[in-house]
Amino acid sequence: MSLVVVGSIAIDTLETPQGRANDVPGGAASYFAVAASFFTPVKMVGIVGSDFPRRELDWFASLGIDLAGVEVRAGKSLRWSGRYHEDMNVRDTLSFAANVFDAFAPELPEAYRDVPFVFLANIAPSLQARVLDQVRAPRLVGADTMNLWIDTARGELDALLRRVPLLMVNDEEARLLSGERNMVRAARRILAMGPESVMIKRGEYGALYFSGETVFSVPAYPLEEVFDPTGAGDSFAGGVMGYLARSGDVSPGGIRRAIVYGSVLASFTVEAFGLDRLRRLTRGEIDQRYRQFVSLTSFDVP
Ligand code: AMP
Repeated sequence: MSLVVVGSIAIDTLETPQGRANDVPGGAASYFAVAASFFTPVKMVGIVGSDFPRRELDWFASLGIDLAGVEVRAGKSLRWSGRYHEDMNVRDTLSFAANVFDAFAPELPEAYRDVPFVFLANIAPSLQARVLDQVRAPRLVGADTMNLWIDTARGELDALLRRVPLLMVNDEEARLLSGERNMVRAARRILAMGPESVMIKRGEYGALYFSGETVFSVPAYPLEEVFDPTGAGDSFAGGVMGYLARSGDVSPGGIRRAIVYGSVLASFTVEAFGLDRLRRLTRGEIDQRYRQFVSLTSFDVP
């Protein structure tokens, strides 16, 4: 089953303790779509400037990512630059320019409107809502957000949350959104805002899932070296939604497996700068790491 994603498609400059990458393709929708493409066809919605490399769009297309919903407009792509601290859970935004995103008004091609799985990656909540208005009867809608929108567009975000069954945020966003430091209490508060379920991404500490009385926890894959955490959360979301769209299984067991696939995709993304690790990733490697996750978390062994 197919999957629609809307979000940023960007040109990033990244600095981590391991090095630097200038002007590389990024953006939440890019990481999401590439990760999800290992499981299912993806329909992308976004906007790029004329400076976005054609070969990168061709690469997306070669992965089965439909670009009919991606507008190419004269001007510059969204540009973001970030620097990670020695503790890579902490990063500073050095610069941000929305550029062509300032004029973005998503218009879904007809073929996108009946798609059953929809993900609203990080973008202004009013734009996320605009996309949601255009899909007819989605089976599952997931969304992400960020500090910027929690601080500056709270009313629109609250309205969106009442329409989103699955929220995926990181721990800092969960705290800011809920006003609670403790993740269990934060999740309770978020569930009271509208979503039926929330997945909280915690970087090297893994991910938590809350739905009703259910709590599920997955560790991050233990890696000796993290090169660049950019896009880990978006790759996690892509793995989760991609697997759910592929299997069509949104049962409690299906959701748990999806969360492990999300963690697998995130663990690969951080192994190199930008999208580089995903460029050479194979489905075989994904399945192998999934099995390693199973043995990593099994404790009831003879
Ligand atoms: P993450 O590491 O999951 O926070 O996602 C990083 C990606 O988000 C980068 O590739 C950036 O291009 C993109 N990004 C940064 N700031 C924004 C913003 N304000 N709106 C949309 N995308 C952004």
